[in-house]
Amino acid sequence: TIWNLGSINADMVYDLPHLPAPGETLAAHGLDRFLGGKGANMSVAAARAGSRVSHIGAVGHDGRWAKDRLTEYGVDTRYISEVDLPTGHAIIAVDAEGENLIILYPGANHALDVSHLGQALSSASTGDLLILQNETNAQVEAAQFGRKLGLTVCYAAAPFQAQAVQAVLPYLDFLILNEIEAEQLRQETGMGAADLPVRHVIVTLGAKGARYLQQGNDPVEFSAHKVQAVDTTGAGDTFTGYVLAGMDRGMPMEQAILQANRAAALMVTRHGTADVIPDLREVRDATFD
Ligand code: ADP
Repeated sequence: TIWNLGSINADMVYDLPHLPAPGETLAAHGLDRFLGGKGANMSVAAARAGSRVSHIGAVGHDGRWAKDRLTEYGVDTRYISEVDLPTGHAIIAVDAEGENLIILYPGANHALDVSHLGQALSSASTGDLLILQNETNAQVEAAQFGRKLGLTVCYAAAPFQAQAVQAVLPYLDFLILNEIEAEQLRQETGMGAADLPVRHVIVTLGAKGARYLQQGNDPVEFSAHKVQAVDTTGAGDTFTGYVLAGMDRGMPMEQAILQANRAAALMVTRHGTADVIPDLREVRDATFD
């Protein structure tokens, strides 16, 4: 089982003739509401990859639809609590040229009760995976609980904050970050990805693929598949979810990365996020040049 202490957002996308100026009131042509948040995306990706996924998190009283959507995608939502704050959301204004402006409100994602987290994780078994990202509260508590319970503790260092990474670093078995985040980490802490005291580190490299650093071994490079990318949002989350699913199934890491690389390549050919993450069959059947 994969336990994901993760964010859940409503991505509200408003179509506008132009981006609003200060003081301006502007009517939108349309509104689309998508399930988002790095946490929710990773849960959906791992579930689509065939794993059993328990999402731990919080939504507001307005967030029942998000839980329903996660359930529809095969994620166990019984450890998502309802709190007295609005569900996390992003208000995304998009103009006719595709330029955007985003307001992010973490809301319920920062209001998870630590005792609720403890209760959820008390149902975990030794050897289960725990994944965290930097969009919720209680990351350190979760990493500590996870380590104590004998879970494989994983961290996706996004959105990047050096302090947040350093706080969980002592408890990690696996760290995944993209090239920009790895560079920020090096600049702010002096630690290159290869120097980190973590058994498994993956640096994703966008259209260049990914690099796997296993402590004590030479780095292994994976090149990306050549595809026509139309929307790269959610590529990293899809990659992470598929790697976790592979690990959870006991695959060698290299094999899990190959599958994640295929899933993420397919993902960048699609518009959208959680709602369009490919399932295992599509990933296996995909052919690339
Ligand atoms: P993030 O979305 O977190 O910034 P990356 O941009 O590094 O992460 O992308 C994550 C993974 O998605 C890459 O390791 C690769 O497998 C895949 N990917 C991203 N962009 C492309 C692309 N243009 N073509 C093929 N695969 C891609």
